Amino acid sequence: MLFSDIIGQQEIKRRLLEWVRNDRIPHAMLFFGPPGTGKLAIAVALAQYASCRERKERDSCGVCPSCVKFGKLVHPDLHFVLPVMNTQRVTGKPVTDDFIQQWREAFLSNPYLSEYQWYEAIGAENKQGFISKNESQQIIRKLGYKPYESAFRMVIIWLPEKLHPAAANSLLKLVEEPPEGTIIFMVSENTDQILPTILSRTQLLFVPPLSEEKIREGLSKRSDADPALVEDAIRKANGNFNTALQTLEQDEQEQVYFDYFKGLMRLCYKREIIAISDWVDRVAVLGRERQKQLLDYSIRLLRENFILRMKQDRLNYMSAKEAEFSEKFNLFIHEGNIRELVESFTLAANHIEANGNARIVLMDLSISAVRLLMQKSPVTG
Ligand SMILES: [Zn+2]
Repeated sequence: MLFSDIIGQQEIKRRLLEWVRNDRIPHAMLFFGPPGTGKLAIAVALAQYASCRERKERDSCGVCPSCVKFGKLVHPDLHFVLPVMNTQRVTGKPVTDDFIQQWREAFLSNPYLSEYQWYEAIGAENKQGFISKNESQQIIRKLGYKPYESAFRMVIIWLPEKLHPAAANSLLKLVEEPPEGTIIFMVSENTDQILPTILSRTQLLFVPPLSEEKIREGLSKRSDADPALVEDAIRKANGNFNTALQTLEQDEQEQVYFDYFKGLMRLCYKREIIAISDWVDRVAVLGRERQKQLLDYSIRLLRENFILRMKQDRLNYMSAKEAEFSEKFNLFIHEGNIRELVESFTLAANHIEANGNARIVLMDLSISAVRLLMQKSPVTG
């Protein structure tokens, strides 16, 4: 992780670089602040910089043997302590080492990941992770060895607020009297839940939310998405880059679903059965998860169109493209067919979920849609 890969946070970076240059790295630091600001990435970048052999003025070299190992999070002197729990694969007394491969993949693919995304990555999204006493004993043992390659042994403790009370006490001893050459990086989103005695012995660094400008800059490096979607993602992000990334990804996916839905509705209206069959073939290969999302998306847009048709005075939750399409499409949605349309899409989603043959399910759905779109409104005709 290079500092230059981290969005914004110039002030903190400047301070950290100065510490390393002056050989004044604190033995225990705690980066804290709201989620999605790059705290964890900053801790990893600092650890990398401290062990880089060809350090530059403002960043690690990125190519020395130490940097190469950091780039894969496999440096032998870099340890992680993460909240974990029992999963289908790991039972008994889970510790970070049981999940280290998943951690490397998850962090490297998104250094701004949230706690929830981490639990998702290890297949435990409905559980609460914690850091056990067992884990803290293990880390104390690891830090007792001499560094292998770097001048330091480094441990990054992500979310120390998840420390079990017994684990917090042994960690306290470590923070009080760290073995020589040890650097402890803690990265917290909730310092209220950390022992005050740990906080008082730690160099605290607040990592602020990112500005809209910095988020825009960060998104532009990763995506060539529609500018309107980018601005929407920035607005919803509230200084959290991870939220911006997720929103953008979701919006882009919705755009794809919108195109599919619009395509199908046009074909159904025109009763072009051969073209509908081609549409079904294209959607049949998307995979079950995507198909379900498309059907859920379609239900939402059908409902929005019914509301539009009823001219209910309320905010419409539609993107510009959806609104443009719905201006005409809402004329086909009314009291006489909305219920059955929603039922048909829901039934299709249930059949897909239950492993039904996607081609058959989608063809059935399309034929129902052809019939339902032909119906006239019982009120306005
Ligand atoms: Zn290097």
